[in-house]
Amino acid sequence: MRVAGILWGIFLFCLALDGQAEPLTVAPGQQSVSLAPHLRLLEDRDGSLTFDELRHAAEGLRPWNEKSANFGYTSSTYWVAFTLRNPSGQALPLLIRQDYPLIDFLEFWEPREGGGWRHVATGDRRPFSSRPLALREFVFPVTLPPASERTYYMRFATQGAMNIGLSVSSEVSLISHLTLEQFLLGVYYGGFLVLVIYNLLLFLAVRDRAYGFYMGYALSYSLYFGALNGVSFQFVWPDNPWLANESLLVLLGLSIIFGIQFARTICSGRQLAPRVDRVAGLLLYLTIALTVIAPFVGYRLMVTTLTVQALLASVLMLILGAVSLWRGSIPARYFMVGWATFLASIIVYVLKTFGWLPHNPYTHNAFQVAALIEMVLLSLALGARVREIRRRGFTDELSGLCNRRFFEQRLPREFSQVNRSGSPLSLLFMDLDHFKAINDRYGHARGDEAIRAVGQLILQQTRRPVVACRYGGEEFAVLLPQTNAAQAEVLAGRLLQKVKELGLFDLPMTISIGVATYDGHNFDSAMQLFDAADRALYRAKQQGRDRVQMSLAGAEALGLS
Ligand code: GH3
Ligand code: MG
Ligand code: MG
Repeated sequence: MRVAGILWGIFLFCLALDGQAEPLTVAPGQQSVSLAPHLRLLEDRDGSLTFDELRHAAEGLRPWNEKSANFGYTSSTYWVAFTLRNPSGQALPLLIRQDYPLIDFLEFWEPREGGGWRHVATGDRRPFSSRPLALREFVFPVTLPPASERTYYMRFATQGAMNIGLSVSSEVSLISHLTLEQFLLGVYYGGFLVLVIYNLLLFLAVRDRAYGFYMGYALSYSLYFGALNGVSFQFVWPDNPWLANESLLVLLGLSIIFGIQFARTICSGRQLAPRVDRVAGLLLYLTIALTVIAPFVGYRLMVTTLTVQALLASVLMLILGAVSLWRGSIPARYFMVGWATFLASIIVYVLKTFGWLPHNPYTHNAFQVAALIEMVLLSLALGARVREIRRRGFTDELSGLCNRRFFEQRLPREFSQVNRSGSPLSLLFMDLDHFKAINDRYGHARGDEAIRAVGQLILQQTRRPVVACRYGGEEFAVLLPQTNAAQAEVLAGRLLQKVKELGLFDLPMTISIGVATYDGHNFDSAMQLFDAADRALYRAKQQGRDRVQMSLAGAEALGLS
């Protein structure tokens, strides 16, 4: 019994070797099932074989027995045969589906009932109308008569990736699959559309060119995926197979171009990573040249070159992002997470395209899903960039305090706030004493050090909502919301003391401070408050420096004079 089993096994094995791949038994309501393990394949190196020759040399077809049939870029033509068996007593309407929609020339032969063959010639180098069903993928309807077995033949010829992704299912099963797929595609392209529109509005508001590059990137990239999925061919240019094929190259090129420019901008490449940035610049010009000539040069050569180019660019962008991150860029953080996600997926895709990984829904779609995730993260990077630019625009480099621009925006706002809240607002205006002499004696660099030290000191002595600014050279302004004159005077006195204790030079450095307070009545405008503090400072200087002087207006308002 066991021996018989083994012999039977050997017999089956020899059958398989002899080109007899197992037929696939299908049932009514058949769920989608991959045909890959049931295929018999023949590689026709020069593509010269005709269907009749193949039929007579059918022993050349070898069983495939693998989970996927993916041969990367090849100049060979592939012949495929598979056998379906219907043991049931009813005729089965079935759909044979090829899931990779970029096959140039695809032919299909179904045996006719009374002998002879029904032949369909389609592919994405032929008009969209050559397809039996108007779908983005190739779907061939067949009917399997009751209690029968039928063998079907297909011929694949393409300059792109040779991905043979065949499956069979009942009509019902494919319809529910298509509904889900249409929904997901809608969500996917909808996501891109939302990102493009959202960032277009931001671009109009902010006018930062990084947004322009981002939009170019998102747009060319989503259209590239549209071409890759066969969606553009179906909906945008169904009668133009040339465009359907070449657009893929041009859109890939444009994605790389905009991607590089976006990365260089968002990572402040020129400032933070000048050497990597220069290499990226070279890669950019190379890609522009390749993109321009792409439609006029052999498809296979260009698609391979651009795929390698995309890989090079992404690795380079990763280095650029890493250097920029290392040098402290905040947008580069988002960029790096987005780019790493994308890079992982692109590696999977390239491995798949060259035939080193199986072609399946995961390897095929990982790339696309990651692209949308990447786009969201890059959009966050844009936000971080705008925040950083704004912050840098309001910060004084030397002292780390706010700058004068910020102060001038803030003062009127705080002033009008007082009228609403009724709480007082004080302003300290201060100037270091005899600073020219300090510069002359110790040099400008030591002078800068002193300014920085005073800035740090003010920062330490104040808490939000206090706004401390370096107003000019060695002048500082401190805005104190909810602070009355007496409290302001205390703080001013403390600052006066602390500056003296800094001990940067042989002699103690001193400061003069003018204080003015607005109680909601004593000034008409923010400008008047500022003038009052400035005049108080002037009097402090006149009276011998190293002192706090209260504004007379403030003193009057408090009933002190
Ligand atoms: P006073 O007590 O009257 O304020 O005398 P002063 O010498 O400080 O005079 P004034 O405030 O008019 O002069 C400011 C000087 O501060 C002029 C300049 O030499 C110096 N200064 C201004 N900005 C900077 C700066 O950014 N760094 C350094 N090191 N010195 C500066
Ligand atoms: Mg001074
Ligand atoms: Mg001064």
